[in-house]
Parts: sequence; structure tokens; C-alpha cells
Amino acid sequence: MIVAMQETANEDQIQVVVEHLVEMGFSVHRTTGERQTILAAVGARADFDTRNLEVLSGVMEVHRISAPYKLAGRSFRPQGTVIEFRNGVKVGDKDVVVMAGPCSVESREQLFTVAELVSKAGARALRGGAFKPRSSPYSFQGLGLEALKLLREAGDKFNLLVISEVMEISQIEVMLPYVDILQVGARNMQNFNLLRELGKVRKPVLLKRGIAATLEELLLSAEYILAGGNYEVILCERGIRTFETYTRNTMDISAIPIIHKLSHLPMTADPSHGTGRRDKVAPMARASVAAGADALLIEVHCDPDKAWSDGAQSLFPEQFAKLMEELRMIAPAVGRKIA
Ligand code: PEP
Ligand code: MN
Repeated sequence: MIVAMQETANEDQIQVVVEHLVEMGFSVHRTTGERQTILAAVGARADFDTRNLEVLSGVMEVHRISAPYKLAGRSFRPQGTVIEFRNGVKVGDKDVVVMAGPCSVESREQLFTVAELVSKAGARALRGGAFKPRSSPYSFQGLGLEALKLLREAGDKFNLLVISEVMEISQIEVMLPYVDILQVGARNMQNFNLLRELGKVRKPVLLKRGIAATLEELLLSAEYILAGGNYEVILCERGIRTFETYTRNTMDISAIPIIHKLSHLPMTADPSHGTGRRDKVAPMARASVAAGADALLIEVHCDPDKAWSDGAQSLFPEQFAKLMEELRMIAPAVGRKIA
């Protein structure tokens, strides 16, 4: 950490800051310039609050140098994390893994029809909500266990991994026999009790960025899961809330290369929730692959206008198949491949 003192700071004020740093466990290296004193502090734990120093008199600026997360940081595994599934699919490797399916599982027929189509188009995982986090308590809340059973059956039939959202701790045990990836939704990114429990699980977790979360907060949430011993975490950008109203959320494509710089964890892009509009999903999916996404999460429905949730952002199967063709052309330009 670097503490830059104000030009007007006197020796007493500088000493108070030095004492604070020593108390926090830092060793302090002082540079006394002609006008300004700089204190370089090294060696303490990462979980300090820089504001405790910023408020001391005579302090101008405080800069954190080391990241507050350790296990999620790129330096923990500079080569990057690759998550391998039993059917040979790898997330974080050369292939960009496409996960597709309806927002919610509605019926056997709905799920199996869409599963077959997305599988034929090249998806490697089937998505579908069994437990739905809805903004209104009166909206469809998901079919629960029945949906999980259908997902597993359809996944096995069409050689697709299964990903579905876990909303609370009690659902983890229920879901484990049926899913290959446990999705933590945007609304639960900082449900720390849930994250801690997922740290005990030995199954990959896809952690979505909260609608108002910084990337540092996303990585600190991932740290909860990693700290519990579950190293199979996949991150996901799904749009954040900004002042723009044209789209449902603002898809932050820059999160992809930033996460790749800061972390070794694979990064997914969800342009469906990222835009909320069917007509904007394909461009954002193409941009995500070009920006280096390791996986995509895309909502597809055979009859989106009649979907029980998120129909407006769900692609028709033909649109999805066309998008896959486009992605197959873009991926090699950035050294990647699509099934
Ligand atoms: C979903 O994937 O259907 C979902 C609810 O996502 P999010 O948590 O990003 O809103
Ligand atoms: Mn959805």
C-alpha cells in the first residue's frame, strides 16, 4: 500500500500514520521528498480498510497495491483454471463452451424440443431454471424438483451438461444429483452464507455478477467459494444496472478482459440478461467471444412469445443456430474454437 501525505503534513501527522501502519502489521518504507512524504507499506494481511488511513490528518491519498482476494487472483494460478467435465467438455480451455436453453423449465415437451435443437446447433450445456428468482412474487417461480429431473433426462439424452440456478442453501442437496453446474444468480452474488456452503460442494459453480457489483466484489464473492475448498468456479457477466434504459441491463463487455487479467477463473458472458432484448443478444454474444469469453449462457425458446419468463430476450432456435455459425467464424480470429 502507498500512502501519499499532503504537502502540508507535519512530522507529527506523518508519525501518527507510520504508527498506524506498524500497528496494522506493515513494515514502512519512508521517502521524504522536498515537498511531499510517501510511505510505502508492505507485508500485512490483505483485508484492511484503506479508509482507516484516508481519514487521518495530513493524508492525501491511499493506494492499495495487493488485491484483497488471494485465491481468485491471477497470481494464484497464472496459467488459468480449466474445468473439465466427465463428458470431456472443458471450460477455460481453447473451446468456447456454449450453454443454452430456456430461462425456465416449463414442461417436458418445451425442454426436450429446445434441448435437441440447441444440441444440434453445437451447445454443450443445457440451461433452465427450476427455482426462479422473480422480481414479483406473483410471477412463475419454477417447477422445482420436477424441472431438475427433466433437465437431467434431457441433458443425458442430447449429450448436454446441465446448469441450473441454486437460490438457497436447502436447494443444494436437492440439486446435486441432477446438475453439473450450480448457477448462483445475480441477486445472490453476495449471499455469503450460500457462497460458503457452495465452497463445501465438489461441483462447479457459475457465479453471476450482481446488478450493482464491481468486479472486485465479484472476485471477493468467488473467494468465499474458493476459500471453502471448491476451486471450480466460473464467473459470469450478465449486465449491470446503469442509467441507460434502452436495454434491460448494460452488458459490460470490458468485464471479460478485466477478469482475465485479474483472475485465473474462466469467464462467461450472458448476453440474454445482459441486454434483455432478443435483437441485441447476437451482437453482444459475438462481441463477447471476440473479447475472449470462455463460455456463453444464452436463452433459447421454441415459442418465446409464450415463454413463462424472459421471452423477450429468448432467441428462436433458428436465430441461435445462425449465431453459432457466426461464432464459429469469430472464435478462430481470437485463437479459440466452437463445437
Ligand atoms: C437466469 O439465468 O435465468 C437468471 C435469473 O439470471 P440472473 O441471475 O443473471 O438474473
Ligand atoms: Mn432468465
